[in-house]
Amino acid sequence: MDRLPKLISLADASRKTGKMVSRGAFDELDTGASPTLSELAQALHFSLGDGRIWLNDQRMLLMQAQVLGRLRQEVIEAFGVEAAKGMFMRVGYMQGVRDAELIQKRFPNEDLTHALAAGPRVHTLEGFVKVTTRHFRFDVMKGTYFGEFLWEDSSEAAEHIAHHGLATEPVCWMQTGYPTGYTSKLFKRPVIFREIECSAMGAQRCLVVGQNAEEWGNDAPERAYFGLEWKPRRRETMGDATPEQNGDKDGSREPTESKTTDEIIGASASFLRARAMVEKVADTDATVLLIGESGVGKELFSQKLHRLSPRSKGPFVAINCAAIPDNLVESELFGVEKGAFTGAVASRAGYFERAASGTIFLDEIASLAYAAQGKLLRAIQERQIERVGGSRTVPANVRVIAASNVELADEVRAGRFRQDLYFRLCVFPIAIPPLRERRDDISFLVSHFLRQFNIRHRRDCSGLTHRAMDALLAYDFPGNIRELQNMIERGVIFADAGAQIDIQHLFSGREMSRVYPQQLSEDGRIWLPAPRKHAANTALGVGITSTDDLVKAEEALYRAALADAGGNISSAARRLGLTRAKLDYRLKKHGLAGAR
Ligand SMILES: [Zn+2]
Repeated sequence: MDRLPKLISLADASRKTGKMVSRGAFDELDTGASPTLSELAQALHFSLGDGRIWLNDQRMLLMQAQVLGRLRQEVIEAFGVEAAKGMFMRVGYMQGVRDAELIQKRFPNEDLTHALAAGPRVHTLEGFVKVTTRHFRFDVMKGTYFGEFLWEDSSEAAEHIAHHGLATEPVCWMQTGYPTGYTSKLFKRPVIFREIECSAMGAQRCLVVGQNAEEWGNDAPERAYFGLEWKPRRRETMGDATPEQNGDKDGSREPTESKTTDEIIGASASFLRARAMVEKVADTDATVLLIGESGVGKELFSQKLHRLSPRSKGPFVAINCAAIPDNLVESELFGVEKGAFTGAVASRAGYFERAASGTIFLDEIASLAYAAQGKLLRAIQERQIERVGGSRTVPANVRVIAASNVELADEVRAGRFRQDLYFRLCVFPIAIPPLRERRDDISFLVSHFLRQFNIRHRRDCSGLTHRAMDALLAYDFPGNIRELQNMIERGVIFADAGAQIDIQHLFSGREMSRVYPQQLSEDGRIWLPAPRKHAANTALGVGITSTDDLVKAEEALYRAALADAGGNISSAARRLGLTRAKLDYRLKKHGLAGAR
């Protein structure tokens, strides 16, 4: 007899047909459907010694649950239970929204059912509570969602009991905010979760139910707690996002972006500090000194300063002092009078005069010839310049922005830079951080450059592979943003049409791609895996001192490839550049045949 045809889930059907499914249910997922807990754990990186823990591209913190419990207690005492409840629910909501974004970014090809099912796993991975999904189902067209979850070992309930004893109502506030934020973000409609039973009330575990906001009726105080207008958000295709979507309400801190491609972008603390200082000084005429390594975007910062200033209608003239020969620098900057020297057949205005009523940007100011430094000081101090060979002074209505990638104080000590000019320039110094000190911004910058170069080179790169992104987050970028920009441009050009940029497209081999050395092993320990294939050319040899190590490295390579491929041997073999038969043989040889 023929076997019954295998039932295909809606999610599978959508993968096979490429059609969007608008309905789904948890029970249609295979057990072990992607993204699995271990796939999610691969997104977790401990950048040991660097003061950073990453979950994909978001910086995480490791903090004692007890301390969070203490904070909770203090907030309750200071503001009362109702206010505390609202605050913690909102914090959980933000956490959920950020994790939903993470899933969309790291697993962009997963359909909604898989993405929704990943939420409980991320929440579990983050250590707040052990979530078991009982079931959920949704229908995007109808806007309906219903789900039921069990929470075991809720950290929030434990902390509540420790400080306040048994509760009379559910108290896992932050944890209830989480699925509300996560699901609402993915579902693009408000879905509210509520605890029906809570272990802080003496139940064995917490029971949580989520449904689309309307189903809860008018009596849903969560609407107020989350401070959100519960109306369907505008469709994504309808052009610009509403202010509400851009705002901070859902906890997403989007980087500043504008229509122009040369805008400065970032959201990290050190970047925001520099930008705030630019904004602060913009409407004055003060001389500004930008300090930062090369490639950090000093010229972009100076353009921004010019645009924000009352001089924005005037010219912006940028000069690299290192690019002008010493004997020409004075005439280039301040102009020349006819007959000033042999060959000066006509009078000519210098950059200062051309920048009149605008801004002059002097990059690499330290390489300015000593004589010219005196003239520059006079131009700044007395607002007057004198052309070379001229006898009269001309007013200089120019704002000066200087930039340096070396410590000017050292140049003064070495006698190469005038101290009086140094003091004059130092009125308002702004330090622009190197990219390695603002890694939080790497993913913003990557998306920005990806968009830019896709347009410029008429490509349609869909993004970066996990390992390419991981490698970028771990890289030190001696060339700063300019280097990242070059890498993405190279990646966009090299990657196959419509495909993702992989690690070999980014690194030309000159850069050492220091892929995160530490990862989580299956039993939850931090370990040092052997370099994966992409790193083999550059990093193999690190830590390998014996053939024993080599064998271990080889095994780790296979395990990593299998994990990357979700246990699929053919796919893992392709990643390793081996045939399936060859990989099969080697897995057996290393006793890894059952390891997937
Ligand atoms: Zn609870």
